[in-house]
Amino acid sequence: MTHTDSPPPSLYAAREPIFPRRVKGTFRTLKWWLMGAMLGIYYITPWLRWDRGPSLPDQAVLVDIANRRFFFFMIEIWPYEFYFVAGLLIMAGLGLFLFTSAAGRVWCGYACPQTVWTDLFILVERWVEGDRNARLRLHRQSWNIEKLRKRAVKWTVWLLIGLATGGAWVFYFTDAPTLLQNLIHGTAHPVAYITMAILTATTFFFGGFAREQICIYACPWPRIQAAMVDEDTLTIGYRDWRGEPRGKASVEGNGDCIDCMACVNVCPMGIDIRNGQQMACITCGLCIDACNDTMAKIGKPLNLISYMALTDETRERAGQPPKSVWAHVFRPRTVMYTVLWAGIGIALVVALFLRASIDVSVTPVRNPMFVTLSDGSIRNTYELRLRNKHGEDRWFTFAATSDAGFLLTLDGEPGLKVLVPANATKTQRLFVTAPAHSLGAEAARTDLRLWIQDLGTEAVPSNDRVHHDTVFNGKGE
Ligand code: SF4
Ligand code: SF4
Repeated sequence: MTHTDSPPPSLYAAREPIFPRRVKGTFRTLKWWLMGAMLGIYYITPWLRWDRGPSLPDQAVLVDIANRRFFFFMIEIWPYEFYFVAGLLIMAGLGLFLFTSAAGRVWCGYACPQTVWTDLFILVERWVEGDRNARLRLHRQSWNIEKLRKRAVKWTVWLLIGLATGGAWVFYFTDAPTLLQNLIHGTAHPVAYITMAILTATTFFFGGFAREQICIYACPWPRIQAAMVDEDTLTIGYRDWRGEPRGKASVEGNGDCIDCMACVNVCPMGIDIRNGQQMACITCGLCIDACNDTMAKIGKPLNLISYMALTDETRERAGQPPKSVWAHVFRPRTVMYTVLWAGIGIALVVALFLRASIDVSVTPVRNPMFVTLSDGSIRNTYELRLRNKHGEDRWFTFAATSDAGFLLTLDGEPGLKVLVPANATKTQRLFVTAPAHSLGAEAARTDLRLWIQDLGTEAVPSNDRVHHDTVFNGKGE
């Protein structure tokens, strides 16, 4: 065994900053549109209004953490209905599986928040500091007034975007206009300020400095997606059989690649797709736009780089045409994901529309099973949980149908009506009494159907009612 004094080689490699060049083309345009749509949805949604009555904010999309409810336009999800959220999460997961198996990491390239915000930050960077070469120059030059000024402007705009991002997030959890006023006057809850500060800092750091490092080192998705792609999945590929040997177009025998480096210079991940498919590639398609631009300029066929599958590569190398895009998209695997996705979606929609407008649970109190009153009558107790899903206080009343004659009374209420506050759940004990020597009092068990009717409000009466089947316990003698 030998010993040396030299330290072991470092496993750490300092980040090489990437300065993507501006590019125009189909995929860049698509990315601009998607970016605008997604940022627009994110920032505008908390400001959409929806009438929710006097006791709730008139907000179309609201996560009401205090009452553990979620509002989405006309849809309200209560805590006991969380299967809707679970269903939506499963659909989101299946959707990711579907898109990944059909077209690789399109989520990463077009829709992931890290990609969208990084794109926005690069756009700001380009406005302030110029395109790739100018930014490279600025990066390499030592600090002076110009560099200080440009960096200050860029970081300030990044911080404002981060602040807007964190600000928009907290608006989803309470009435946005009220919270905005409170934030401005310094009277908002400290949690709002802390959340905004954390999101501002993370947006600033992730979008401005960490960028591709998040995708390469922090995000588990590239590893997971490896299990979802197969040889028929569309990913970005370079036709080396057409492009190589690369070099000047004027040299006899050279391929179509003129080694202009445009595809590398526009890549937000800083990779050279000509080296083959790589884990870091987010399939954003910008290298396709860059190379197509070059091919158009030198008069060569487009798509030296394009979306293609491994099976296409094999076919093209053998001189056959590639399969159509639809043949890659509609495969048993993707059809299965689509069917599952649509099945869950349809089930959720059906469940949504079949939900009863009245929500009541009835729990018989079985300790004791029954009580014998002084006049010999038998009394059973039932605990009712009445949920008022409306924005105003509502009256509920109760009735029973059974072969035996029962008397109904409410614990603590003079009549058979109870007021349930708006957007609240009230627990109410209901007493069911069978007169002495009656059928219900003498039998061990008697079927009982309890009716709960929502009377609505004085202004808007209602006749909605539901029933709950249960059992009345008698003496059984
Ligand atoms: S190689 Fe092309 S598709 Fe992949 S990340 Fe770079 S620019 Fe996007
Ligand atoms: S953009 Fe096209 S031609 Fe230029 S280096 Fe890349 S593959 Fe070659």
